[in-house]
Amino acid sequence: MKFTDFNFKPTIQQAIDEAGFKEPSPVQKEAIPLVLEGHDIIAQAQTGTGKTAAFGLPIMNQMKSDGSVEGLVIVPTRELAMQVSDELYRFGKLSGLKTATVYGGTAYGKQIDRIRQASIIVATPGRLQDLLMSGRITIKPQFVVLDEADEMLDMGFLDEIKNIFTFLPSERQTLMFSATMPKAIRRLAEEILKSPKTVSITKSESTNTNITQHYYVVQERERDDALVRLIDYKNPGKCIIFCRMKKEVDRLVSHLTSQGFKVSGLHGDMEQKQREVTIRGFKQGGIDIFVATDVAARGLDVNDVTHVFNYHIPFDSESYVHRIGRTGRAGKTGEAITLVTPSELRTIKRIEKDVGTKMVTQVIPTRLEVQNSKADELIANIAGTEITQSGIDLVKTLQHDLDIVTIAHLLASKLQEKHDIKGKEHIGLGLEEIELLIQRAMQSRGNDRGRGGQRRRRPGGGNRSNRNHRSSRGSSGHRGKRSNKPRQD
Ligand code: AMP
Repeated sequence: MKFTDFNFKPTIQQAIDEAGFKEPSPVQKEAIPLVLEGHDIIAQAQTGTGKTAAFGLPIMNQMKSDGSVEGLVIVPTRELAMQVSDELYRFGKLSGLKTATVYGGTAYGKQIDRIRQASIIVATPGRLQDLLMSGRITIKPQFVVLDEADEMLDMGFLDEIKNIFTFLPSERQTLMFSATMPKAIRRLAEEILKSPKTVSITKSESTNTNITQHYYVVQERERDDALVRLIDYKNPGKCIIFCRMKKEVDRLVSHLTSQGFKVSGLHGDMEQKQREVTIRGFKQGGIDIFVATDVAARGLDVNDVTHVFNYHIPFDSESYVHRIGRTGRAGKTGEAITLVTPSELRTIKRIEKDVGTKMVTQVIPTRLEVQNSKADELIANIAGTEITQSGIDLVKTLQHDLDIVTIAHLLASKLQEKHDIKGKEHIGLGLEEIELLIQRAMQSRGNDRGRGGQRRRRPGGGNRSNRNHRSSRGSSGHRGKRSNKPRQD
């Protein structure tokens, strides 16, 4: 199926072409025809699956650009509001459709001016309710979208949403998007949708399949070391590290900064301006690592996030889905990495079941393994480097005092300097240990809380020899592929 099969207006089709979209995503294939036919829909779609275009394109295609507010999109957070606005602006600009972004924490005047000129409003519930109830704005949108509805309910916006709908015309087309479909969402759908069509893409389609998911089992005190080791090993382009608490964000930011990484934190206490500056720094490349809480990172759409790290496993499956959806966006691949302690293994299994996904357990590479892999990279790099005149001149100068082998050793050591891998040799548990713990966790379901957990550090003898994956080659050993193969549980 191609986008041209939807017969969009030429200006919309041109915007799709300019965005570089080649083929509609699964949620777009299902939702767009239904929206064009005028149906209300309830769609289950995770972030990163192209849901903004799934509602944005077909509603904009039906808009008249008559100077009134024709569309209203309600989203849970400011970040998502900005992101959705940007996306809708791209689709609508050739059709003369203007977008206004409405959220709290900024002056009313400018926002109201923009609303007066806009065809579409993208708003967070609090500020929108405020504007409607105070009579500062009156709008009659024919198209209303609730985006990330489950997040809005989780954030306690149910009353605001219900109240907002009392200000909207009853003759309207309403579209509801949600990553998950708990009972509360279905109840809300019954209240605000009319004979909705369900867009039900299968679970594997609804979770972004471009994301590989791994988890590593560590002891509580090993989290920091594990994180640094994995960043060293994975060498991410841009990554987001999720924490549960603000104070943990602050602590990790200073820890990672002290380790030489370019890091910034994002949490709910930050001023809006400060958040925008931080997000811009991350988008434009000055910062490589973002440490964030769930709320702060909701809706964050940054291209090229190669890795998401869950420093702590999230409390619920919905958060897991939202977190990992920050990578693998726009058809790119990504990797989600979760650190768990032995007692959290059950949570992993529960999330796998809820989300309908498979996480693969891996073992944290040893210092030697990381060093070897860095050396492999370096060798490949050196082999691909062109000899330059300045290189030749440098060697000539050095040869006044040193022989050629010493020069080579010195230069190689210099190159290796920045690959100094920190921390202890072994971090986290080995595969055999993890397997045993998983078996135990599954067997003892429900009646043995507290057993088989953190104190049983070494099931089956307690020495390092049961780390069956570890090759104990020395630095001069064969540089083959790493032997800690992933395992499907
Ligand atoms: P969303 O799920 O709406 O947040 O979209 C995630 C990312 O995918 C955004 O950066 C979109 O611009 C991009 N995107 C949406 N639809 C497509 C498509 N059909 N082809 C390629 N990229 C897309």
